[in-house]
Amino acid sequence: MMLRNDYRVRGASVSLVNLEKRYGRVAAVGGVSLDIQSGEFLTLLGPSGSGKTTTLMMIAGFESPTAGDIAIDGASIVAVPPYRRNIGMVFQNYALFPHLTVAENVDFPLKQRGVPKAERSKLVREALDLVRLPGYGERHPRQLSGGQQQRVAVARAVVFKPRLLLLDEPLGALDKQLRENLQIEMRRLHAELGITFVLVTHDQDEALTMSDRIAVMNDGRVAQIGRPEDLYDRPCSHFVASFIGQSNFLPAVVCGLEEGVVVVKCQGILMRAVSSQPPALGAEVTVTMRPERLRFADTSVETGPLANLMSATVLEAAFAGERCRYLLKSDCGASIVLKEASGATIRRRGVGERTEIVWAIADTILV
Ligand code: ADP
Ligand code: MG
Repeated sequence: MMLRNDYRVRGASVSLVNLEKRYGRVAAVGGVSLDIQSGEFLTLLGPSGSGKTTTLMMIAGFESPTAGDIAIDGASIVAVPPYRRNIGMVFQNYALFPHLTVAENVDFPLKQRGVPKAERSKLVREALDLVRLPGYGERHPRQLSGGQQQRVAVARAVVFKPRLLLLDEPLGALDKQLRENLQIEMRRLHAELGITFVLVTHDQDEALTMSDRIAVMNDGRVAQIGRPEDLYDRPCSHFVASFIGQSNFLPAVVCGLEEGVVVVKCQGILMRAVSSQPPALGAEVTVTMRPERLRFADTSVETGPLANLMSATVLEAAFAGERCRYLLKSDCGASIVLKEASGATIRRRGVGERTEIVWAIADTILV
């Protein structure tokens, strides 16, 4: 169902400027600056305790910053009480009123805002249509599955047509299959509503599949911000490379700088790598490579003229459905994980087999 044009409102743009929240001596948020575009789907991704919820609560107005500013469409909202910010919010635990029906739950924010009765029932119906629960209005939350309850919570959060929707681990309580379905639903909803979404999650797969951009948080700060593919292909730190996806990490020393490429010596082997900032000659660095970007040299895949190359022996071989995962020991002593797509025509490697592996310079990142 596509919405009529009058349902669409323009998404809010949100600016966080040196935002800080301290609890005594603990800095839950330690100076976050971030510009969220109108209509963007932005995700705050990070481990537990990295300050994601606190950041969201400050945007919603349930926590006040110790320092810094929050602006919506260029105007500071720090002094505006939560109910006047007109922001929708969805929590992990649904937070539905158990004694109210689905329709009464969705109606609640409209009633609070003094919307006339006739208009309210129309808006409630539209919101339940939007989350694909038409005809569920008379049920009680306990008569719904977890996924359906979360859809009701989303309907309640958007029924008053906010220009910004904040979602704190909204799919965290659901099982994997349902979570994946609802991820697609949330994307659809975002496209239909056209408003700004800010999602909090600790689940990297969820962040990668849903977001326009991801801000990776660590220790109350933004470690890196970018599109999912930017973060995956060009992590700027060990933390980001290990938190998003899997990576091999090898210690290395910088021994030369060529056009746009850094030459490093890694356990006796020369390699070429790319780096966001050119490091100093002699600097001790870490080289990182994604397991699925490494290839066995005898497979015919183009990796570029100056690809990196290493000889290794297979230590472990595991079939994992869509991929085979190999643990290799390079001749220089490094442990390397390589993942290869599985397939009827792809030869599986055996333990003890000697191999050569190759990979592109662009897939060799200094962090
Ligand atoms: P996340 O959502 O990323 O898991 P939070 O924003 O909830 O992280 O918490 C960030 C840090 O701030 C944690 O170390 C947490 O213990 C601390 N913190 C959060 N809320 C409070 C509070 N009300 N009082 C004291 N410390 C808090
Ligand atoms: Mg949290």
